[in-house]
Amino acid sequence: MDIYSAILEGTKILKSNSIYSANIDSEILMAKAINKDKKYILLNLDKKLKDQNLMTFKKLIKERSYRKPVAYLINKKSFWNSEFFVNKHTLIPRPDTELLIESTLNFVKNKNKLQILDIGTGSGCILLSILKEKKNFYGTGIDISKDTLNICKINAVNLDVSNRLKLFKTDVDKFIIGKYDLIISNPPYINKNKIKYLDLDVAKYEPLLALDGGLDGLSEIRKVINKSSELIKKNGKFILEIGFDQKNKVINLLKRNGFYINIIRKDFANKDRCIICTKI
Ligand code: GLN
Repeated sequence: MDIYSAILEGTKILKSNSIYSANIDSEILMAKAINKDKKYILLNLDKKLKDQNLMTFKKLIKERSYRKPVAYLINKKSFWNSEFFVNKHTLIPRPDTELLIESTLNFVKNKNKLQILDIGTGSGCILLSILKEKKNFYGTGIDISKDTLNICKINAVNLDVSNRLKLFKTDVDKFIIGKYDLIISNPPYINKNKIKYLDLDVAKYEPLLALDGGLDGLSEIRKVINKSSELIKKNGKFILEIGFDQKNKVINLLKRNGFYINIIRKDFANKDRCIICTKI
């Protein structure tokens, strides 16, 4: 079978499983199966596939048809200016989370040396992207998952920022090391009972630990805010990702913990997604 026919076949299978991105997914999985890039595929559509490659491709299509995210099948995801290694232990970096990077860079434009804490680092996409942009910033990442911290370490080496990074496996409650100029966090904030209604790709495959925000969706956010108010320096900035319906409750929590709200930013779907505030 040639590359073109196989991609077409893959697209058909994915479409019949209601995967909207069927065509592009099929192309990406072909690139993975034959270990080439998209350009090679476009220039070699009539090339006959080796049996081994066709088998690999079919296996990938099958897994995708069960809704396994493409990022887990190819073990990578682009975020901000870099490509991150990901697997089932890490939440897949979201385009909306790039808002946190943009906001952070806006607020630290004229700053030189900063100490940053990232609570719930995961793949490291937020913290490492900032460290890559700002060569004099130092980062500390904490997470309760040892597995995800191992992924973060790989990404730190890939992005060449590991010499400015410290990682700790700990719950935010128990973390007492340091005082920070800037704290960022994308904590789990989905209501426990609503996880099953998320996109099937997310609900079936992404780590529950990175999504589950307890019965009201706010239990981790509460912990993160409480602890941040102790770990942050006076006038330090705190940048937090929240659920689309959590703005008012989170603002109250922040105010009670001594934060002044600077701005609330909306995501691509025009939903409140990122709060930027200052410790006073
Ligand atoms: N934004 C993610 C989602 O839509 C949730 C991430 C989180 O809970 N921090 O699945």
